[in-house]
Amino acid sequence: MDFDFDYFVIGAGSGGVRSSRIAAGHGAKVGIAEEHRVGGTCVIRGCVPKKLLVIGAHFAEDLDDARRYGWTIEGKSFDWPTLRDNVLADVDRLNMAYQSTLDTHKVETFLARATLTGPNRVQVGDRDITARHVLVATGARPMVPDVPGAEHGITSNEIFHLDALPKRAIICGAGYIANEFAGILHELGVEVTLVVRSDTLLRGWDRALADRLLAISTEKGIQFRFNTVPTRIEKRADGTLAMHCANGKVLETDLLLWAIGRVPNSEGLGLEALGLELGANGAIPVDAASHTKLPWLHAVGDVTDRLQLTPIAIREGHALADGLFGGKDWVVDHACVPSAVFSHPPLASVGMTESEARQKLGNVKVFTSDFRPMKNVLAGRNERSLYRLVVDAATDRLVGAHMLGPDAPEILQALAVAVKAGLTKRQLDETVALHPTMAEELVLMR
Ligand code: NAP
Repeated sequence: MDFDFDYFVIGAGSGGVRSSRIAAGHGAKVGIAEEHRVGGTCVIRGCVPKKLLVIGAHFAEDLDDARRYGWTIEGKSFDWPTLRDNVLADVDRLNMAYQSTLDTHKVETFLARATLTGPNRVQVGDRDITARHVLVATGARPMVPDVPGAEHGITSNEIFHLDALPKRAIICGAGYIANEFAGILHELGVEVTLVVRSDTLLRGWDRALADRLLAISTEKGIQFRFNTVPTRIEKRADGTLAMHCANGKVLETDLLLWAIGRVPNSEGLGLEALGLELGANGAIPVDAASHTKLPWLHAVGDVTDRLQLTPIAIREGHALADGLFGGKDWVVDHACVPSAVFSHPPLASVGMTESEARQKLGNVKVFTSDFRPMKNVLAGRNERSLYRLVVDAATDRLVGAHMLGPDAPEILQALAVAVKAGLTKRQLDETVALHPTMAEELVLMR
């Protein structure tokens, strides 16, 4: 049978764009559909604009600290529209860069919603298309809780477009997005309260690091309400919001941000009609090579809810295209994946936490460095960094690294190579320190 395309990709985010580009490079005729903007969550309303806001917000501390280094800064002020518009302009630039990558590789773009209408069949706008292989790379969207008035809150989709910064903000959640935006908004002068349903910040992360972030954030002035579950959001006549909570408390705010996880974008695509059973939260089940049980249908990235991280979606899309069109079969290793929370200060982690390692390996050694970075000492900023290394006692192999402190994500990327390569603690010890740096702590822990 002749098909219109060898490969049709639904969703032009990180996973979909990489996969279509690689497939086209292998000679496949490729089409891609996108209902919002080419670039996807990471580029348009996620990692990229968020990181730019993190950088922008951090100037608040840097400018304060500069005084102790002899600088006088007169008339310091902050203008949100300037930062917002410059960030959004950069998003536009990247959107065009992604589009031009697709064009250069002769991937035909359809700016419309696509649905699956039968085996090897896709409806895009008013066109009925056939394809030998179809990839679903539709990503995920922020979850909004099922409580009355939830629509008065916003999500990470909207936060980049605020007309003005609020005086007060409540952020519901205690994961990546909650802690990242708590830092951004606080640095920009907003009174921030995190509403956390349990007593745990950053579940799954190294406990000592999460406790340290809590202590530093509290010291900075971010407020935390633990064991607090919203039951109703009321919008008052003056525009303020009242969050009614299960413990009887009522919290008032000007802005409410839901940061309680992301759900796969799988509904309305026609998947169930094709006989695919979705996971509890709508995730598309796939094997290690990103194949569904239908031989022509595949899925990568957040819609499969394996690890909701851009570099993972990119690799999954790349491996899939190599396997389908390049005769190169390989699968993505979902173990030992580094990640970071871009809070103020940031956290970064790779491999097993101490408790995971104790469960899996039994006997582990943990090395800790708890120090005040040189820059903070002179600035009179009482913020200590915390680095923790987890080592398998039987083999001396480094199985986990967890860092909190300035530039922790930048430093951890290099250390992730050591963990992935299975280097031993002794090999770290044998490496000469680069003095004076924060990273030298990693080879000086005894
Ligand atoms: P997240 O990191 O999974 O955190 C979700 C938070 O919301 C948790 O604290 C969770 O509490 C809480 N929660 C879940 N359901 C809730 C409910 N119904 N009511 C109140 N609280 C609830 O999710 P996220 O911050 O929204 O980010 C989504 C995903 O995007 C992340 O998992 C990550 O993979 C990705 N992401 C990555 C980065 C990065 O790499 N820097 C940045 C942003 C997002 P419990 O702990 O009790 O479950």
